[in-house]
Amino acid sequence: MPQAKLTDRFGRTIDYVRLSVTDRCDFRCVYCMAEDMTFLPRQQVLTLEEIARLAQTFISLGTEKIRLTGGEPLVRNDIVDLVREIGTMGLRDFAMTTNGNQLARLAQPLRQAGLKRLNISLDSLDPERFHAITRTGQLEQVLDGIDAAREAGFDGIKLNVVVMKGRNEDEVPALIEFARRKRLDISFIEEMPLGHITEHHRGESLFTSDQVRNLIRQHHELVPAMADSGGPARYYRMPDSPVRVGFISPHSHNFCATCNRVRVTVEGRLLLCLGNEHSVDLRRVLRGYPENDSRLRQTIIQAMDLKPERHHFSTQGDVQILRFMNMTGG
Ligand code: SAM
Repeated sequence: MPQAKLTDRFGRTIDYVRLSVTDRCDFRCVYCMAEDMTFLPRQQVLTLEEIARLAQTFISLGTEKIRLTGGEPLVRNDIVDLVREIGTMGLRDFAMTTNGNQLARLAQPLRQAGLKRLNISLDSLDPERFHAITRTGQLEQVLDGIDAAREAGFDGIKLNVVVMKGRNEDEVPALIEFARRKRLDISFIEEMPLGHITEHHRGESLFTSDQVRNLIRQHHELVPAMADSGGPARYYRMPDSPVRVGFISPHSHNFCATCNRVRVTVEGRLLLCLGNEHSVDLRRVLRGYPENDSRLRQTIIQAMDLKPERHHFSTQGDVQILRFMNMTGG
């Protein structure tokens, strides 16, 4: 019998869950983290068994799409085993967001373990800039990872670019050409005020999706695409390419009305909204009732009542959400 889906107070169906598998990362992207981050002690982090149990429980509540994220999911030991386990659970869509740094080694095993799609972050094609933005990353290694992912035969690979004024907005045309050449979809993301950073002032670095679109239109026609990805991006196509160009615009085009998502942090905190603090502690239930799946299911069903109608990100760069993106699960 088809499972009734989770719904919230605003009539939205929630069938997409982003599970964070670690808060750790091998990069320190300037918009995402402080340079000297303190990471969670091991006992606060969900085990792989607990994450798999969460996945199974959400699926029993009608979840059709799971994305593994972090932190950087590929720094978690045994990530391929977790993918293999969730991969057998019958999801319509099973994806991961990664910085690509370890894909040269892991793309093939992940694909074989049942992962269907990948989002790979790529903010610059210039090695020095790439290193400056990620604070630790080597561009060449990520490009090798992207090629390995293409060869592994995923159902879809998308590049994610956070665009920042004065940092990488001049690379938008080059990134579009790269995506066209590699035949990869590409999404441009507005920087969100998650976590307090001192490296730059977020209000000054905001480069809106409209500005990005105008830059692209100097080189290519962009036609709105109909297909709904089930995510927050609005998609366009270029008439002479199969590549889709997405825009994730939390500031300029709020995407809350069609929100179908919740997140679970690696501490087991169910976050009902990216831009609000409403949450429920699932780790307490996972550990307090290890045999009682109906208790876990009831907790999740009731949590949907807490999902706020929308987020209110300020464009002034004020810190409204103290948790960093690596803690949130991007
Ligand atoms: N480590 C993986 C990666 O780099 O893709 C997955 C986690 S990362 C937090 C997920 C996505 O969030 C990345 O595309 C990253 O660029 C984006 N991101 C991180 N902090 C952000 C922020 N403050 N505003 C907008 N996007 C952000």
